[in-house]
Amino acid sequence: MQIRRATKIVATLGPASSDPQLLEQMIAAGVNVVRLNFSHGKAQDHVERAAMVREAAQRAGREVAIMADLQGPKIRVGKFAEGRVMLEPGLPFVLDASRSEPGDLQGVGLDYKELPRDVKPGDVLLLNDGLIVLQVDAVRGEAVYTTVKIGGELSNNKGINKQGGGLTAPALTAKDMEDIKTAMSFQADYVAVSFPKNATDMEMARQLCNVAAAEFRHKPGLIAKIERAEAVPLLEEILRVSDGIMVARGDLAVEVGNAAVPALQKKMIRMARDMDKVVITATQMMESMIANPVPTRAEVSDVANAVLDGTDAVMLSAETAAGKYPLDTVREMATICAAAEAAEDLERDSDFIGQTLGRIDQSIAMGALFTAHHLGAKAIVAMTDSGSTALWMSRHRIHIPIYALTPKVATQRRMAMFRNVRPLLMDTSADRDTALDQAESHLKMRNIVQQGDLYVITCGEPMGAPGGTNMLKICRAR
Ligand code: PGA
Ligand code: MN
Repeated sequence: MQIRRATKIVATLGPASSDPQLLEQMIAAGVNVVRLNFSHGKAQDHVERAAMVREAAQRAGREVAIMADLQGPKIRVGKFAEGRVMLEPGLPFVLDASRSEPGDLQGVGLDYKELPRDVKPGDVLLLNDGLIVLQVDAVRGEAVYTTVKIGGELSNNKGINKQGGGLTAPALTAKDMEDIKTAMSFQADYVAVSFPKNATDMEMARQLCNVAAAEFRHKPGLIAKIERAEAVPLLEEILRVSDGIMVARGDLAVEVGNAAVPALQKKMIRMARDMDKVVITATQMMESMIANPVPTRAEVSDVANAVLDGTDAVMLSAETAAGKYPLDTVREMATICAAAEAAEDLERDSDFIGQTLGRIDQSIAMGALFTAHHLGAKAIVAMTDSGSTALWMSRHRIHIPIYALTPKVATQRRMAMFRNVRPLLMDTSADRDTALDQAESHLKMRNIVQQGDLYVITCGEPMGAPGGTNMLKICRAR
């Protein structure tokens, strides 16, 4: 028996979770979306892992979406002769794009050759997730002369961020373009784009996905990872061309400062939902469980607060990819989500009272929520081809579960990300009354409704045409 939980869990696959049996257990324990991190591994590894995910989901009897997370531009230092150096505060350190010999205490080469053109004296560079801070003193030719402000160990290929943003690296690298083809070969349900600067980066990714997926007639959902300072003021235009965003708190915190992130998280979640997009809250949510069997109180609060903010999904990174307790982490996270949801005090239908709805299908979706709420229905059911009806419904908070019935596997998987939506696969008759009977039998078979229970159901006539939802029926199960 699973506890009822509306918030979805994204888990990153890695060495710690690549055993098929363990993965199946993790899915059974609550993983709704599996993230394949294209920063690690070869194309073939991802193809094999995707097949493993599909099989594990099948065995667990759960619908699971796959999210391919592209590496994005590598803004990184080069390698060191000794693998690492210990930087001392106050000493000079040179980042040199033309340097070919391995790095030492005086300086290091750069993977990212554009750095000398992207910085000026006074800029602050943050290395290794902000653990090391360098201040730029001068730029001469290909060399950036800096002073160490906060020292520490710097090892091979650590990442570089510029405080306040402004590195010009394009979001999609040649590797990303290849990786998109790989991801489309197994029809990844979502593609996450790392470090987009603006809407154009997302449009470019969309085009590449469409071309690569054309032969499969597949359309992945596109997630913009908000992790650059310059993406923040452009949030609305980025959202408009994406299917969702990730609050990528790791890189974002380095660029905008830790303290700005919690408020940004709330703003991003609110904006995404208002624009009918999905939102994932990511990074360090259960960080201590990489090594410990229980989370810290602060982590419990962090996950619960993301749920209360209204996120669709909470994400696990190293916790499930490389941690010691991947299964316990998923279980723990599921419990926290369910408890936060149960305690959530919802403002009744106030959020759509002032809305003007221009579309019939959207009005039906809102009507279903209103009716279900005021009748105290057991379930809201959407018969949907594209998944839009379920998405609109799920943008408003309600304690009644939404069941989305679709004949399309791709739609079912994509809906695995939507908060409070349980997507179920069901082929129905083209005849409306027969289809409604089939839907009710399906719901009863799954114990979603029992005889006498009230539920509301939406569908479209003619059946099976996308975007055609035009009917709302209130039913008492027979
Ligand atoms: P990453 O993205 O884990 O791929 O870096 C998430 C983040 O930056 O928070
Ligand atoms: Mn990142």
